[in-house]
Amino acid sequence: MLTDYHLHLRPDEPDTTTERYFTAENVERYREAAAVAGIDELGVSEHIYRFTQALALWRHPLWEEQARDDLDAYCEFVRGAELKLGIECDFVPGAEDRTANLLEAHDFDYVVGSVHFVGEAAVDHEGWDVWEGSGDADEVWRRYFEALAECARSGLFDILAHPDLVKVWGRARPLPERDPRHYYEPAVEAIAESGIAVELSTAGLRKPVGEIYPDRAFLEMVVDAGNPIALSSDAHTPEQLGFEYDRALELLDAVGVTEIATFAHRGVTLEPIGPT
Ligand SMILES: [Zn+2]
Ligand SMILES: [Zn+2]
Repeated sequence: MLTDYHLHLRPDEPDTTTERYFTAENVERYREAAAVAGIDELGVSEHIYRFTQALALWRHPLWEEQARDDLDAYCEFVRGAELKLGIECDFVPGAEDRTANLLEAHDFDYVVGSVHFVGEAAVDHEGWDVWEGSGDADEVWRRYFEALAECARSGLFDILAHPDLVKVWGRARPLPERDPRHYYEPAVEAIAESGIAVELSTAGLRKPVGEIYPDRAFLEMVVDAGNPIALSSDAHTPEQLGFEYDRALELLDAVGVTEIATFAHRGVTLEPIGPT
């Protein structure tokens, strides 16, 4: 079994309307790409902040600008397209109850929990760049992995997205001097306690860092903790679907992962990993 569960049906650019991208033709392009790549199961996990309902969780200016679509219409479309129904939901500290209510009101197959922001600033968005603040690598990495720990511990999510996203810019931003495992440890402790599935994402290979998320050392710690592993490309176009999966499978094999997490109605099942 191979999955691609962290998919977006459209790029993040502003003019990407549902009318243009949430169409049977576009879904067909993703299905064709999946067939070529030998990927059995596809799920869509649109960013929660593209929906007006997300403003009940957070009124960050970026969200105010992006929240245009209706979450119920999205759920209906994805179900109708017979794709797994997911959502990529940011962990918003202090909004746990409102997040739980919003997620429970929809019949998702899985919820991908993300940390993109540290406070008001983003680790992966140039418009809200966290590095324009203090720029202290030790502080940014520490705060990022603390937020990731909280995200896992919240129990709101089934899959933890791109776990070391903070490295996205690679050498274009400051990097901490100490062994990164120092930062991973508190996050992995929370991950172990929560039992959440951890995403192995090839998206980082398309970004300045040029690496899979998470780092091998992080992945090894998670595997030791016994958490399930989910596999995704975080594609925003059909061409990115299953991106560089060969490298992902090589890494999973190297760290002894033989099964991947599949989801239905927020329940997890482990399946033997590999192309069919
Ligand atoms: Zn993300
Ligand atoms: Zn994503």
